[in-house]
Amino acid sequence: MSHEQLVRKVISFIEFVDAEYGTRDPEKIAAMENIFCLVWKLPRCVQGFSFAYDGDKYIVINEKVSEKGRQFVLLHELYHLLNSHTNEYNRLIFMTNAFIKTTREELEADYFAFICMNYDDLENINPLAIENEIAIFKRRHLKI
Ligand SMILES: [Zn+2]
Repeated sequence: MSHEQLVRKVISFIEFVDAEYGTRDPEKIAAMENIFCLVWKLPRCVQGFSFAYDGDKYIVINEKVSEKGRQFVLLHELYHLLNSHTNEYNRLIFMTNAFIKTTREELEADYFAFICMNYDDLENINPLAIENEIAIFKRRHLKI
């Protein structure tokens, strides 16, 4: 999948979210989906993670993450949960470590979170610039 296809895929999911939930507020979407959001004391290398257990879904956020960072992590983890991503053991568990290069699913979740927060107008996105914008955002708001 090319970079531009990836961005297009994420944008079409945001269009779905806008239509389906009528909001991009991750806490409201989580409430509608019965996803539990918890704030925990976690090591600095983990901004947050999500998992499903016994039919329930959870998002856990590091208490040290700023308000804006928290919104990003919630949206990032929501993307995994709403898309039922699984890891190599086929279990639903995801971790946000904002500063490690990872898989396409991690990139998609980052793009989803960033675009939701920063682009009301989905026509205005420059796929070539966005990777750099996300890196700047993460350094500013997710470094803990
Ligand atoms: Zn992730």
